[in-house]
Amino acid sequence: MAQVKERPKPFLVSDYCKGCGRCVSVCVKGCIAFADEINPTTGVVPIVLDLEKCTGCGLCIDACPEPYGLRALEAGEEFELQDPAKLFGDKLREVTKPVDIPAEKVALPKTGPLVIKGNYASAIGAILAGCRHVFGYPITPSTEGAELMAKLQPKLGGVFLQAVSEVATVNHMYGTGGAGLPTMTFTSSPGFSLMLEGVSYMIGAEVPGVFVNIMRGGPGLGNIAPEQADVKLACHGLGHGHTHAITLMPSTPQEMLDLTILAFELTFKYRSPVLVMADGYLGQMTGKVQLPDHMIKPGIPSWAVYGDRDHRGNLISSIQLQESDLEVFNRYLQTKYESMKVEARSETFLTDDSEILLVACNTPARAAKGAVQNLRDHGIKAGLFRPITIWPFPVDQLKALLPKTKRLVVVEANAGGQIENELRLALSLAGVEKLPPITSVRRFGGLLPQQTEVVDHVMSICGK
Ligand code: SF4
Ligand code: SF4
Repeated sequence: MAQVKERPKPFLVSDYCKGCGRCVSVCVKGCIAFADEINPTTGVVPIVLDLEKCTGCGLCIDACPEPYGLRALEAGEEFELQDPAKLFGDKLREVTKPVDIPAEKVALPKTGPLVIKGNYASAIGAILAGCRHVFGYPITPSTEGAELMAKLQPKLGGVFLQAVSEVATVNHMYGTGGAGLPTMTFTSSPGFSLMLEGVSYMIGAEVPGVFVNIMRGGPGLGNIAPEQADVKLACHGLGHGHTHAITLMPSTPQEMLDLTILAFELTFKYRSPVLVMADGYLGQMTGKVQLPDHMIKPGIPSWAVYGDRDHRGNLISSIQLQESDLEVFNRYLQTKYESMKVEARSETFLTDDSEILLVACNTPARAAKGAVQNLRDHGIKAGLFRPITIWPFPVDQLKALLPKTKRLVVVEANAGGQIENELRLALSLAGVEKLPPITSVRRFGGLLPQQTEVVDHVMSICGK
């Protein structure tokens, strides 16, 4: 009678087990279970085998994705444990020092102006800045940004990935930015809130990335109409730890393009995330947009974890386990934030002789500008100060206007006076003790301050 050869049973060196559990779920005989303890060598919980009922079916061996994981061991066969570090050949020990490969300007032919929505203008700006890795999802009122990227990026050899969540989005950006590549997302207020932990990690790891936040009404899901209620998040709430990010506040579709391009320049200059924050109305607003005369072909920074031989010695991380190291790193970050203050930008309108100074950003700045002209028709010397960066706040530019300012009027689309708070804080930190009286025109919930409301308010405080 022919002897039935016993089928080999599985064998495992637990140091090679990644604890994925696939073998546990395929074994119908219940021979495989997770161990009770973590393997101190690998830091994961491996499986343990109890082969009394094992039929040698081999399903677990087929299921194991590890090349040196579960294997068939013939009866009596010896297994020689290899050095795991040598499993795939000798490691390359020689590490070359990477050098900066600078970005290049590529000339563009002159074109006529486009008439496009603010969201499209921002997307085109990102493409011209060399961004070929976009992560996100549709979220009103920013959706057109993701929509255009989904259409164009594959044609440009780029990637648009509809991420499963905001947390996934920001971590895709962490990986891509860490590789030294320009990356971005389009989002809106509730989505931006969910990304903040990742923004903190990016700041801690000094990873570039551009976040375009088209703000909408809140709190919670709120609605899909415009607001400016994320100023506090941008200036004081970027996740945990000591965080700041340059925050640009466009007020025209042209600026949606220009400031998105600038955001990519700054995010690499400082190795830190940069925010472009517009209200929902601006994202949807159509306007004339002139393209620049060049686009950017990105380089590869020397610090990037780019994935080639030259960059294999690089490491990106935000962990500093030694308390003294973390303090030193945070002192360095504070110095970096201080150096970002030269990026403070603003625009003025009719401020040469203004006594009533309106302060506004984004779409409310457009209403305020109209109000300035209207007030001048009534003989009131009004002017507009428009912060283009809300962080850093353009305090020096504002300070220069204060000596002749009799009243400040902050026009904004949020309930708590978030822009006014930034203004007051910046002036206080700059040592300005005597302020002119400050009043405000605020609308919120998806409603923007109207030109007539601003005019009426200024007329009333002027006693007219
Ligand atoms: S060989 Fe088959 S019976 Fe044996 S442990 Fe693997 S899956 Fe279970
Ligand atoms: S399938 Fe392989 S790696 Fe996964 S738990 Fe089982 S032995 Fe470990």
